[in-house]
This record gives sequence, C-alpha cells and structure tokens, in this order.
Amino acid sequence: MIIAIDGPAGSGKSTVAKLVAEKLGFHYLDTGAMYRAVAFRALVDGVRLTDEERVGLIAENCEVSFAHDEGEALPTRVFIDGQDVTAAIRAPQVDDAVSAVASLQRVRAAMVKQQRRIGAQDDIVIEGRDIGTVVFPDAELKVFLTASPEERSRRRAAQQAAQGVLVDPAGVRDAIDKRDLADSTRQIAPLTPAPDARVIDTTGLSLDEVVARVVAYIEVWRP
Ligand code: C5P
Repeated sequence: MIIAIDGPAGSGKSTVAKLVAEKLGFHYLDTGAMYRAVAFRALVDGVRLTDEERVGLIAENCEVSFAHDEGEALPTRVFIDGQDVTAAIRAPQVDDAVSAVASLQRVRAAMVKQQRRIGAQDDIVIEGRDIGTVVFPDAELKVFLTASPEERSRRRAAQQAAQGVLVDPAGVRDAIDKRDLADSTRQIAPLTPAPDARVIDTTGLSLDEVVARVVAYIEVWRP
C-alpha cells in the first residue's frame, strides 16, 4: 500500500509522514531530500542551477540513498553517491537553490524513476509535492496537508531554532513564500492536490490530531 503525503513547506508533511509510517510499521521516503541532494551537488560543483544539461547529468548519474541510525525505525541519513549529506541538505543555501533544480524536466524524470523504484517496496509512506499527482497517481491514499502561511513560517522558524540556527522570522517567511510560489507555478508537476486527495488544513490542529485523521483514512483500507 502506498500513502502519498503532499503539501507546501512547513505544512507538517515530514513530521506527520514519519509518525504515520512509524505507527503503521510502513517504510518511509522523503522525496524532498532527493531534490535537495541534487541541489547540494550542483552547488558544490559550481554548476549554474538553471543549466539543465549539467544539472540533469548530475541527477541522471547519481544515486540518492537512505540509511537508518542504530535503533531508529525509519531512515535518518541521506547519501548522494555514498556521501552523507544529511545535515548539508538542510542548509539555507540549499533551501534557496532547490526549487530551481526541481523545476528542471531532466532532474524530475531522474528522481521520479528512483522514487518509483524505492516505492515498489510494499507498504510505504511517501512525502513530497507531486506524489499523488505524478509519481504514484494510483496510491491507495493521498493526503494533501496545508496550513496558513503564518503557521507554516512559525513552524519552520521553530524547527530552525531547535537546530540551533539563529532565526530571522521575516527571512523565514520570505524564503517559504518564494519556494511555494516557485513550486506551485512551475510548468512540470506543480504543487497541487490530486483531485482525489484528502485535504487537511493543519492550522490550529495538534500533530496528534493530524496523524489520527490520516490513520483513520487508512483504516478504511485496512479494517
Ligand atoms: O520537502 P522539502 O521542503 O524538503 O522539499 C524541498 C524542495 O524539493 C521543494 O521546495 C521542491 O522544490 C522540491 N520537491 C519537489 N517534488 C517533490 C519533493 C520536493 O519538487 N516530490
């Protein structure tokens, strides 16, 4: 069974997807981490982010993989061609670069291929922007999470503060707004709910409430 969880930055996707996977004993795939890994490699290699030929070659020839830390049920580490980029792909420079890279057709085609291969494992929760619309349009359950822009910026700022980053709230809001605009207006696989997605506005809901709603949808499939 495939559970697709899509939504914009700061909608709570990652936290919810991980908790749902843990609760159900499903595998878990963070597709945003894959685009981030390609963006990271492009930055390190000094490749212009709009150079489809060169960024496309990176995406087509790399392998993004995931690994567990000891004792963890879900993957916690991200690698590109064996290099551990878990922390590096969360840097603000990658935040700023990733949407440009993810808008390129060749990059998307290469990532979707890897995602479909990983998703062929039987029970999995996959989070991203286009999982329910493009990558797995036949997923048994599609969830689209949203939240008000204020709430999403607040969550992202709290996340950064927890990582010890000095937070500028206006900067966080600006970065999220820019990324959402780019992700939802791009030509290929824009961020949008699938017609049959369950849309949950998480503003004002607790994490437990959101997870409980998603699990309730799943129980319809797995009585
Ligand atoms: O989920 P996360 O915020 O880490 O995703 C980083 C970026 O990767 C998004 O802003 C988007 O540009 C891209 N992405 C995408 N399609 C996906 C997942 C992420 O285009 N399925």
